[in-house]
Amino acid sequence: MLGGGPAGAAAALCLARAGISVTLIEREAAPQEKVCGEFLGSNAARRLRHLGLDLAALGAVSIEGARLASGARRAALDLPFEAWGLPRARLDEALLAAAATAGANVMRGCAARRAERVAEGWRLHLSDGMVLAGPALVLANGKHELRGQARAQRGQHVGLKLPLRLSGPLAEVLLLPLRGGYAGLQPSVGGQANLCVALRKADKALSTPEGLLRTVAAGSDLAAMLLAGAIPVRKKPLAIAGLPYGFLHRDAAHVDGTLFRVGDQFAVIPSLAGEGMDMALASGIAAAGAIVAGEHAGRFHARMRRAWQRPMRWAGLVARLLDQTPGGAVRAAEMLPLAARFVAGRMRLGHGA
Ligand SMILES: Cc1cc2nc3c(=O)[nH]c(=O)nc-3n(C[C@H](O)[C@H](O)[C@H](O)COP(=O)(O)OP(=O)(O)OC[C@H]3O[C@@H](n4cnc5c(N)ncnc54)[C@H](O)[C@@H]3O)c2cc1C
Repeated sequence: MLGGGPAGAAAALCLARAGISVTLIEREAAPQEKVCGEFLGSNAARRLRHLGLDLAALGAVSIEGARLASGARRAALDLPFEAWGLPRARLDEALLAAAATAGANVMRGCAARRAERVAEGWRLHLSDGMVLAGPALVLANGKHELRGQARAQRGQHVGLKLPLRLSGPLAEVLLLPLRGGYAGLQPSVGGQANLCVALRKADKALSTPEGLLRTVAAGSDLAAMLLAGAIPVRKKPLAIAGLPYGFLHRDAAHVDGTLFRVGDQFAVIPSLAGEGMDMALASGIAAAGAIVAGEHAGRFHARMRRAWQRPMRWAGLVARLLDQTPGGAVRAAEMLPLAARFVAGRMRLGHGA
């Protein structure tokens, strides 16, 4: 198992529970924050419970509603399901701890450099010179590429994250369309808020907290009001570039039956859907099931493609709409709340997926 994010940890946990010997390699030795909006919807919450995690006990903050705002317009969005916010350092650590408790061998602080196909399966060469061998390999390395196994698409979007102390309370998640992307603002632990931004073009101004806050505040009256007097908790925003939004893995003509892709290595849904972590969990759990059942990786990928095509298509459509006519999208959500609710549901994986 390469990577200890939600996809890799969920897969390792399920394999260990099924009595399969599994080693997970995670390059970070200690808990790390990741560029992420931290929004967990009901499907993700259900899957985390299934894996044995208690969101409330981990300190997750319940999200009471959602709002869309652009310029002077704002629309309340129906959030007809439970939703939570939890920092990634906490969530990812809890999943890794659960995988280790279930019996997975979790190796931290060493990176995989390359994977080698051999007659008996795979050899994984690590940064410390160690070589691991096993009959199957699961690529769960998220946004980072492994030499020789890179995803077939590179994107333009840059993602940024800045935890904040707001001057007033926040109980909702806000979706704030911006030129070339969007910002999300939602409550986080310890009375903080999490500001997350994805934009098609990186701008130097975004590399400072002041520049980032100015850019988001310029997009809507609501953001300007909420961000007035906000105190950044970090000196610089966390950033990641080259996000391949819309990437959905397709196997080449000859597929290796023992090389499985999960999470962001399989598909990258536009992050405004708030669905990436659920997809990561769902694919990790499903990959473990496929390995236990001896399913060919090509069949597993084809099954996943079928399940993911619809949410990917709808999320892409919404991202384009917000990008091209942010004011119109807010107005439509205001006037047609049932349609907005329908669209929000279409961007999610089914419960059973
Ligand atoms: C701007 C933005 C906002 C988002 N907001 C949300 C949101 O609100 N809700 C939501 O559900 N999703 C959101 N997402 C998506 C979500 O963050 C991802 O879909 C999710 O993290 C994917 O999980 P993963 O396990 O596939 O990868 P990751 O979480 O990226 O984990 C991969 C792991 O692999 C490790 N790794 C990588 N390379 C190596 C290597 N060579 N050797 C060893 N270890 C390695 C990394 O250290 C990392 O821990 C957002 C994404 C972005 C960019």
